[in-house]
Amino acid sequence: MKVYSGNFLKDVITRLLEEGYRVYAPVKEGNYHVFRVVKSADETDFDYINTKKSPKEVTFPENEVLIKYGEWVEELPEQPDRLAIVGIRPCDVKGIRLMDRVFLEDITDPYYEAKRKNLLIIGYACNQAGDYCFCSSVGIKPYSSEGVDILVTNLNGRQIVEVVSDAGKELAANFELTDASAEDIEAKKELEKKVMESFTRKVDTENLEERMKRAFDSDYWREVATNCISCGTCTYLCPTCFCFDIFDDGELKGVRIRAWDSCQFPLHTLESSSHNPRPEKWQRLRNRFYDKFYYMLVRKGELYCVGCGRCSAACPVGIDIAEVIDNVPSEVE
Ligand code: SF4
Ligand code: SF4
Repeated sequence: MKVYSGNFLKDVITRLLEEGYRVYAPVKEGNYHVFRVVKSADETDFDYINTKKSPKEVTFPENEVLIKYGEWVEELPEQPDRLAIVGIRPCDVKGIRLMDRVFLEDITDPYYEAKRKNLLIIGYACNQAGDYCFCSSVGIKPYSSEGVDILVTNLNGRQIVEVVSDAGKELAANFELTDASAEDIEAKKELEKKVMESFTRKVDTENLEERMKRAFDSDYWREVATNCISCGTCTYLCPTCFCFDIFDDGELKGVRIRAWDSCQFPLHTLESSSHNPRPEKWQRLRNRFYDKFYYMLVRKGELYCVGCGRCSAACPVGIDIAEVIDNVPSEVE
């Protein structure tokens, strides 16, 4: 564990920009923060708990041109050589690792892979849980270094730097880092304890697979969906929602685009026969919760919710995923 006397996150950005990386970092926009491509460390602001929208678009853009076509020509768009995301929270790093399992595990998505293999991840440990955060309930430590190249912790203004991967080591070699003292290590442990105690939301995931299995036909899902307006905000902000649609823009000449889609939209499952397996909004809403807390658990052995709380914070009618999952009935008539 090392200590940096300056602002490591900002200095790393400057260095990466000099090396030609495309750098994504948190930028303050109005009352909230979002990840943007930055041209200078001065644009960034690390005084945040989490960003409004997840950074999944770094490897899985909201709209992505897959091919350009003309009468005879097809060409693949260029992919960036070197990408970096700086200041990403541990829940969102876990989100990237879950997306890897979708886009790289059984069938390799070449567009995702091209970005992911060139991605450097500089994580930023949390000092405080946000109002809607519940990552600790879904097995994530808000100071975890899993999946990052370097993890930075802000310890009373001092930046503690943990170098995790070879790429991180290569980058860190450009900075003057000193060994952390015994006091620093102790203070970091204290901070981690304090963060874990700062969660106001806890979700009971005990026997969840079994509870979800039993509750599938419960009227509970109709009740939960009463106020839902099928806006799709929850899925757009989520770091682990991966549904997309592909369409062509142009007839003889144009582009084929992949764009995020949402299981909350009525047309999402409409089949060409005009049959729709999920025509009712409560079925679509139920699907979202089952995707996160049952289907992917059965298929991949992992919950597909990282407890970032974004969907709860932004839902216009106040549907709160933590509350919904906590209240899944254990006994169903
Ligand atoms: S954000 Fe809320 S209202 Fe919109 S689709 Fe999701 S649950 Fe429904
Ligand atoms: S489902 Fe909600 S709380 Fe869970 S990862 Fe997605 S946005 Fe975050």
